[in-house]
Amino acid sequence: MNIGGFQRLSLLDYPDKTCCTIFTVGCNYRCPFCHNASIIQNQFPEKGILQEEVIDFLKRRKGLLDGVCITGGEPLLQESVGSFIEEIKSLGFLVKLDTNGSLPKKLKQLIETGLVDYVAMDIKNSPDSYGQTIGINNYNLDLIKESVDLLLSNIVPYEFRTTVVRQLHTSKDMLAIAQWLKGAEHYYLQNFVDSGDILESGLSGFSREEMQDFQELIRPIIPSVELRGI
Ligand code: SF4
Repeated sequence: MNIGGFQRLSLLDYPDKTCCTIFTVGCNYRCPFCHNASIIQNQFPEKGILQEEVIDFLKRRKGLLDGVCITGGEPLLQESVGSFIEEIKSLGFLVKLDTNGSLPKKLKQLIETGLVDYVAMDIKNSPDSYGQTIGINNYNLDLIKESVDLLLSNIVPYEFRTTVVRQLHTSKDMLAIAQWLKGAEHYYLQNFVDSGDILESGLSGFSREEMQDFQELIRPIIPSVELRGI
């Protein structure tokens, strides 16, 4: 595993659970609003974090933490992600996986083998605006659709979430996303916030009122839609 960041305690990354968070290096997308630019570009002032360090930490946290959130970057790009999660699960921790949904077969395999307890999948934008939003022109959405369908089948507890950026998302996009995800049990809108480690400059979020307007727009189609971090 190529691990670029490790947060020893998070009360936010795993719904209703305490967890630590592991940030894997590298991503196959280039979302201009990416808030972990150094992680996806593998730029660190120091060496990464060893898998053994994480496992040793977890051995000392048995019974004190509920779970582990594996995020990125895109964790499913890591070849050994399955065996790494097996090791974590053998210590008794729940595992939440954050993914951009571009590797549905690997996602399905991890779910079907009981290695993942919760999945958070990013929905970057409406189908028409997807390529622009992930920084890849003419992106073929088939793999994303496969992941969406997999999660909509309720094979595992999950959520969809969209980071909303003023320069990338319109009301029309938000409505199209809602139609696409119709039937989703959990959908979160997250306002863009500049983390200071953004891939591109000049982006901004929306006001609280504008975010609430998006929520009201979506609610008739996805009643459970919620704002996060507002
Ligand atoms: S926001 Fe997520 S999917 Fe997009 S480039 Fe960053 S890590 Fe990859």
